[in-house]
Amino acid sequence: MAHDPNSSTAPKPSNFLRGIVERDLEAGTWAGRHFGGSPGDGAHHAQGPLDPARIRTRFPPEPNGYLHVGHAKSICLNFGLARDYGGVCHLRFDDTNPEKEEQEYVDAIKEAVQWLGFDWISDVGGTPTSHLYYASHYFDFMYRAAEALVTAGLAYVDEQTADEMRARRGDFNTPGTDSPWRARTPEQNLARLRQMRDGLLPDGAAVLRAKIDMGSPNINLRDPTLYRIKRATHHNTGDRWCIYPMYTYAHPIEDALENITHSICTLEFEDQRPFYDWLLESLADLSLLARPLPKQYEFGRLNLSYVITSKRKLRELVAEGIVDGWDDPRMPTLFGMRRRGYTPASIRAMADGSGASKTNIWLDYAVLDGCLRHDLEGQAPRAMAVLDPVELCLTNWAEIYGSDAHVEPCQAPAHPQQPELGMRQFGLARRLWIERDDFAEVPPKGFFRLYPPQAKPDGSTTPGSKVRLKYGLVVECTGFEKDAEGHLLRVLASVVPDTRSGTPGADAVKVKGTITWVGMADGLPATVRLFDRLFTEPNPDAGGRDYREVLNPRSREVVQGWLEPSLKMAQREQRYQFERHGYFVADRLDHAAGQPVFNRITTLKDSWAA
Ligand code: ATP
Ligand code: MG
Repeated sequence: MAHDPNSSTAPKPSNFLRGIVERDLEAGTWAGRHFGGSPGDGAHHAQGPLDPARIRTRFPPEPNGYLHVGHAKSICLNFGLARDYGGVCHLRFDDTNPEKEEQEYVDAIKEAVQWLGFDWISDVGGTPTSHLYYASHYFDFMYRAAEALVTAGLAYVDEQTADEMRARRGDFNTPGTDSPWRARTPEQNLARLRQMRDGLLPDGAAVLRAKIDMGSPNINLRDPTLYRIKRATHHNTGDRWCIYPMYTYAHPIEDALENITHSICTLEFEDQRPFYDWLLESLADLSLLARPLPKQYEFGRLNLSYVITSKRKLRELVAEGIVDGWDDPRMPTLFGMRRRGYTPASIRAMADGSGASKTNIWLDYAVLDGCLRHDLEGQAPRAMAVLDPVELCLTNWAEIYGSDAHVEPCQAPAHPQQPELGMRQFGLARRLWIERDDFAEVPPKGFFRLYPPQAKPDGSTTPGSKVRLKYGLVVECTGFEKDAEGHLLRVLASVVPDTRSGTPGADAVKVKGTITWVGMADGLPATVRLFDRLFTEPNPDAGGRDYREVLNPRSREVVQGWLEPSLKMAQREQRYQFERHGYFVADRLDHAAGQPVFNRITTLKDSWAA
């Protein structure tokens, strides 16, 4: 019996983050911490009492793009830890950069998190509480904290040009040198900061910097920038501010105001941790924050083969029309994967299964595909579909059944292991659709599907092949017809009497091949999109190569196929296994009753492994 990967009783693979959380819970590190409900209004925020022994994590996307499969990793980790240890996980929009952020992204991110199976509304503690936050709600507090740092001599306004600042920053081998503005008094700095805030300085004329150590071996501690001047309209605060906090300054404060206990981020922030701690300790010393303070922990990013997860590059794919949009079924965005037909459970299983480690990981796409098949195998109803149709005509139909118009009713279970899903009904008739490649004029070695009688060198003829029409009966191939240009028009066969599936005669004739089919009269014409990987190389931008050079020209093929009539009932986003073809989903936007549109989610067998 497989475990539901999202149930809280399923065993969880242990990882170093779980170890840290368990140790903290045991030691009572966070007991007695302050927490005062919603920190939504940073202007008069005060940290109130926190429920003892409760962890708080957060997923902090910047609303500058759509979430992708890498974010799913972070969502599952953060929401998963909170779920498994009776804690709370916040969804926080890290919206400190007004230029690239949009409401469209905020809405899409919320929808994607819920689709993946998580929620920021938590009823831990008995009352359902929303834990949806915006960094921009703390702008007032962040500014007050900046003034406090200035007053304490821990920050200063620097008016060097960007080039001058860069030149004095030094590099890995050379310590930096102090800015000429570093020696201003707190009073001078405070006055200048207020002028920045009040719009008296042009964009880029000055920045606020922490006063730490220009000689530090950690470049992130060489007086990092805290605020910059930027006249830009913010999606939440409009034109109220013309100075905006830097991410590195804002993020630790957001965590502290929300009483986050474990601030989990990806490895590239490791070198930022000393500044994270410096800032929060400084603000606690100034009585602006209460201890204990949040702690940052880093884990390795998740990369998938054949996939790019850089938001910038995904944005390019959309902007340049290489794909149809953020939700193109070939995109690794959660919207794209949803449209493609991936189940949330399969993505969660992949993310949870990849654990958390201290190195970035590359996961074979086959792993995700395997999780998907595992999830769908047990639940997706079966159906027959013909995707590259050619006619099969059963020439002795009237002889056997009395009339060319006769229809033999057939049925099959909707799912072989789930009788409660009922039976599918369809009709076997004289004219059918079969797959073009289920027929060969001259059979290659080992070909057990339809081929006509073959002339032998000695002048004799061997009979055509016998195959079973799945759920129907056995037919013997007798010939084929072509048009003037030599294109195959139809395959001809005759019914072998008394071979109906499910009757005593069914096993009397042994056949080596079984093929799927759809009745011409009751089949549904459908548009079927066959998707494949977007890139032909496992690491599309390896070695600085432009990923555009390795786009797969066959990442999407659209065919007109035929579906068995039970699919008349298919609803948008319903998933099926098309027998012999793979898993398919009714497109969540384009599918309509009477005009079916299906997307191939994946094939039945792994085609990804190296
Ligand atoms: P950028 O900051 O370049 O726009 P990002 O991918 O870091 O892109 P964020 O919105 O900052 O985007 O990401 C939100 C969270 O998701 C962050 O905590 C980030 O570390 C995490 N995350 C992003 N990509 C991955 C990944 N591939 N694997 C694991 N976590 C990821
Ligand atoms: Mg980021």
